[in-house]
Amino acid sequence: MRDDFDKTQDLIEEEEEETEDYEKFCFLCHRPESQTGKMIDLPNNIHICSDCMQKSFDTMNQHMTNGKINYSDLFNMPNVSMIDLSSLQNPIQQPKKVKKKKHEEKKPALDLKNIPAPHKIKATLDEYVIGQEHAKKVMSVAVYNHYKRVATDTMDDIEIEKSNMLMIGPTGSGKTYLVKTLARLLDVPLAIADATSLTEAGYIGDDIESVVSKLLAAADNDVEKAEHGIIFIDEIDKIAKKKNTNQRDVSGEAVQQGMLKLLEGSEIEVPVGANSKNAMVPLTTVNTRNILFICGGAFPDLENIIKERLNKQASIGFYADLKDKYDNDPHLLEKVTVEDIRAFGMIPEFIGRLPIIFTLEGLSEDMLVKILKEPKNAILKQYQKLLELDEVKLEFEEEALHAIAAKAMEKKTGARALRAILEEYMLDIMYEIPKDDSIGQVIITKDYIEGTGGPKILLRGSEVPLLGAAR
Ligand code: ADP
Repeated sequence: MRDDFDKTQDLIEEEEEETEDYEKFCFLCHRPESQTGKMIDLPNNIHICSDCMQKSFDTMNQHMTNGKINYSDLFNMPNVSMIDLSSLQNPIQQPKKVKKKKHEEKKPALDLKNIPAPHKIKATLDEYVIGQEHAKKVMSVAVYNHYKRVATDTMDDIEIEKSNMLMIGPTGSGKTYLVKTLARLLDVPLAIADATSLTEAGYIGDDIESVVSKLLAAADNDVEKAEHGIIFIDEIDKIAKKKNTNQRDVSGEAVQQGMLKLLEGSEIEVPVGANSKNAMVPLTTVNTRNILFICGGAFPDLENIIKERLNKQASIGFYADLKDKYDNDPHLLEKVTVEDIRAFGMIPEFIGRLPIIFTLEGLSEDMLVKILKEPKNAILKQYQKLLELDEVKLEFEEEALHAIAAKAMEKKTGARALRAILEEYMLDIMYEIPKDDSIGQVIITKDYIEGTGGPKILLRGSEVPLLGAAR
């Protein structure tokens, strides 16, 4: 008897262990947990993903009239699938089990508890981000101070100010990339939000606190982890105060006002596993005191504001200067002051909560060439690795790289255009090369990029390129 009991106990334990190793699947959309994020567990081994849960609540909310659910309306809706309770009991309906992928424990490149000195943070950033020396330096120091403050929790007599940042730089200059790289190196959760989608609470759009729920989701609903995370708010220039308007500015000045307490540090109630608050979702409190906020934007026209101010200063008094002195100054943006940002339309209280302001430079053709080949995960290296698997050597002539960079410059979207341009030229290569086993090397030439010739193709063991390898 005792033996039987032990056996059953062992079986149950084994089964439990097994289920831990298997992927959970959403009962409604059938996606696995590795795609949907954490599931809500119901009895009978039923799991529902937070997206489907949210959709069900939203549908119910839509069909509430005078506080009552209008069921007839609900069942007539297309795409509404109600949970059939009887099917929950039916084991045949259970989706198939899929074994979870084993994730290797990753060690972060930089350890938060033992935060490395700023020059080490910058050196790691250097491996990925080309140029932007000033931005990398300022960020390294700010992040170092921020996490030192967090780790030691020095809030006693001298309160160290939060190192929230404002980065100004043209599109495609690497603002998002810098923040992403930093978060990955530090292994802290990162939420990226677009300021244009934010509105004052109660209006159509995401309310401001939704950025904190995004961070919580990025931290796998681990509040402690989220409280040490980074929130990047892009396109911050789009919430500048609107000029000459009589209407309520719900997506501009009001959003800036609404963000003040978030930036400074306050307790925010956020829904767990959903992106809007409603009665059915549990709420948790996240303190934003130690969350690092980084705001970024292109601030078009800011250069004119700076120029106007400098010209005004230059034309007054003894040292009166030429009026067009700053017209072609490539370093104009670096001369930005808080006054200029205020003139652009950001409110003083908002700027006051972003004490670290720095600019990124527009990328030159030479920098674009470096971006193509130098970073640790450079696009060229990726293509070379791919062809290496077919034992084909891929090379680019220096002039060809400049031709690609020149094409990217024309698009005026910074480094963002590089990948698309390169992909266009590599498509034929990636299609044709694996066809022929005898090819040992491909050299991309300037002529190929400019459409006046083809790449050089060398057979294995040969030093002379094949002729007529036109595009
Ligand atoms: P934005 O400044 O508009 O946020 P992104 O950071 O999104 O620009 O840049 C787009 C892409 O260009 C990035 O994903 C990255 O691959 C590349 N890139 C931009 N700037 C750099 C840089 N300085 N060094 C290396 N790659 C860069």
